[in-house]
Amino acid sequence: MKHLPSPEDYFTANVQRLGRANQTGWAIGLCPFHDDHNPSLSVNLESGAFACHACGAKGSGVISFHMRLTGLSYRDAARELEKGIYAY
Ligand SMILES: [Zn+2]
Repeated sequence: MKHLPSPEDYFTANVQRLGRANQTGWAIGLCPFHDDHNPSLSVNLESGAFACHACGAKGSGVISFHMRLTGLSYRDAARELEKGIYAY
C-alpha cells in the first residue's frame, strides 16, 4: 500500500471541534456520522481507530472512517487517501 495520510492529519481535516489528544492518542470531536452537537466521537490520532458513543460508528483506521464518510468501497477509499484526497 502506498502512503496514507497520518491519522492526525486525516482527523484534523474531517472532525470538527477536535480536541487535544490524551496520552494514549485519543481525542474527541464532533461525529460526522450523526447530528452531533456535543462531541461524541473519539478518534485515535496515532492508530486511526475511532468510536462514537452516541451512534455506534466505529472502526480501526482512517480507511474505514473514509469509507463511512464517503460511501466508497475499501479499494476506492484507499485510492483517494493515497492521492491525498481526504478533506471533506
Ligand atoms: Zn456518531
